[in-house]
Amino acid sequence: MAQQTENKFAYYLGNTMYINVTNLCTNRCKFCIRNSGDSVGGVKLVLDSEKFSHEDVIKEVKDTFSDKCREIVFCGYGEPLIKLEIVKNVAQFIKQNYQQIPVRINTNGHANLIHKRNIVPELVGLVDMISVSLNAENADLYAELASPAFEKSVAYEAVKDFIQECAKNGIETTATVVSGFESYKIDIKKCQEITEELGAKFRVREWLPQGYEN
Ligand code: SF4
Repeated sequence: MAQQTENKFAYYLGNTMYINVTNLCTNRCKFCIRNSGDSVGGVKLVLDSEKFSHEDVIKEVKDTFSDKCREIVFCGYGEPLIKLEIVKNVAQFIKQNYQQIPVRINTNGHANLIHKRNIVPELVGLVDMISVSLNAENADLYAELASPAFEKSVAYEAVKDFIQECAKNGIETTATVVSGFESYKIDIKKCQEITEELGAKFRVREWLPQGYEN
């Protein structure tokens, strides 16, 4: 049975509906918007409870959906693919009910480590685009910025493998780095080369303290 919570799962920034399914994450990024408060755009993204079902999220997506919606993005105060089954069920609902709306996931790329299997084929047909945080040009800088829960080389290689696997499976895949955060110097050119070798698009995100840009 679906559990009642005060959780806020779905919210808009402009014409994009964001779905926030967890506050759990396998990184602790220095630039994470979670470090600067519990809200984005006036919406409280700290969930009161991690115990809920895909029905709870679907109900809120239905209630929140409106004509202004142009894109739906799984992204919030945590790593969405930790809640893989919820993401898959909600994405399926979206594909069945709002066929015209593209679905994107913003992820840290650890999903195959977390679930100890290749989950990318499970996303095919449910997700149109995926944005994966590459963060850096090597494992040392990656670890310094993201403090992954896994050994640094394991985590960094897993992120690169995940990017490649998503691209190989026909999901429109973009690897991202954050620039302009404190004095960290990311080798953007090298990150772009790595991304191109993996078969994905590349995007630099300017660091914004209020966390608006995705
Ligand atoms: S991966 Fe995303 S949610 Fe997780 S700590 Fe980094 S910025 Fe925050």
